[in-house]
Amino acid sequence: MTSMASKPSYRDAVRNIAPYVPGKPISEVKRELGISDVLKMASNENPLGPSPLVQQALRESVDQLHLYPDGYAYELRQALAGHLQVEEEQLVFGNGSDEVIRMIAETYFCPEDEVVMATPTFSVYRAVADLMGARPVEVPLQNHTHNLWAMAQAITDQTKAVFICNPNNPTGTIVSQSQLKSFLRDIPSTAVVVLDEAYYEYVKDESYRGSLDLIGEDHTVIILRTFSKVYGLAGLRIGYGISDSETVQLLERVREPFNTNAMAQIAALASLEDQAHVDESLAVNERGKAYLYRAFEDMGLEYVPSHTNFILVDVGRDCLRVFEELLAKGVIIRAGASFGYPTKIRVTVGTEEQNTRFVAALADVLATT
Ligand code: PMP
Repeated sequence: MTSMASKPSYRDAVRNIAPYVPGKPISEVKRELGISDVLKMASNENPLGPSPLVQQALRESVDQLHLYPDGYAYELRQALAGHLQVEEEQLVFGNGSDEVIRMIAETYFCPEDEVVMATPTFSVYRAVADLMGARPVEVPLQNHTHNLWAMAQAITDQTKAVFICNPNNPTGTIVSQSQLKSFLRDIPSTAVVVLDEAYYEYVKDESYRGSLDLIGEDHTVIILRTFSKVYGLAGLRIGYGISDSETVQLLERVREPFNTNAMAQIAALASLEDQAHVDESLAVNERGKAYLYRAFEDMGLEYVPSHTNFILVDVGRDCLRVFEELLAKGVIIRAGASFGYPTKIRVTVGTEEQNTRFVAALADVLATT
């Protein structure tokens, strides 16, 4: 082949997709900076990791790796349906809830459809809209919180779906069930309502609970949750959607036959059996949040009170600089620039030791930048 060869053409939609910007992996920082002791507080993972029951279950299953997984995830499905008090047919599993978001797009989005979402919010909603050639309609947050009134105004006959990230990533704010209910009263039932509750388990506020009751009413509501966060299984990739069984059947049509792997299913099942580990993870998170809030206050930094395991904090100077300086000290956080917050950073709540190290590093960085 000569260099004159022309390349295959590709879909216009692909041109529009901005690459996902993940939290920097630990291995990359070690490689690039030659630092051995690297701490990642960038991707909202559970710093305790999964339940010890998970490791045991995985060890016991490792001789089964030559077998395809159960594509329907029957055992996990049964256990999770019992845990959530929903029917088994109301669940759809994904390779992370990321994949369920993509399945929703592949099922519903046509070119020129409008997809309403907040900004800033979780970037994958926009990416899947772009992927399908649909039009993202972004509605700015108000006080770091979804502006449901403005989102309802943004919904038209062309709107195919609305994404509500609750709690919102990257701000950690929530909308209450009563706010959601009145939002639903204001919008047509022709739009799919996606409630992304990736951080559901962390929320203590009573006004938040109850989204499952919205399923099966007038609107098509799909709730997304995941084993990546409080269950500590981000590396295995398993999340799920909950909806009415008719909607789930549609999503199942676009699901790849073996989308969730066998180890992920086994680990998720085991992790459901260890509520004590979830409780401990939540307690560590609450203590960590209180410590970080106090440290930010002592440093005179404003933060957004969070219902999750991460905090958005204003460092009052170029966040990319702070990001780089923290990186040089082996601490990975997320710079707010990609969310449109040039002076903010998002930090995941860690263990006591991790939080202390982060605070010391941040104090050092702020003293010199
Ligand atoms: N939704 C939100 C709001 C998230 O923050 C994340 C993780 N970054 C996801 C969905 C995806 O999670 P996973 O694919 O690991 O289930």
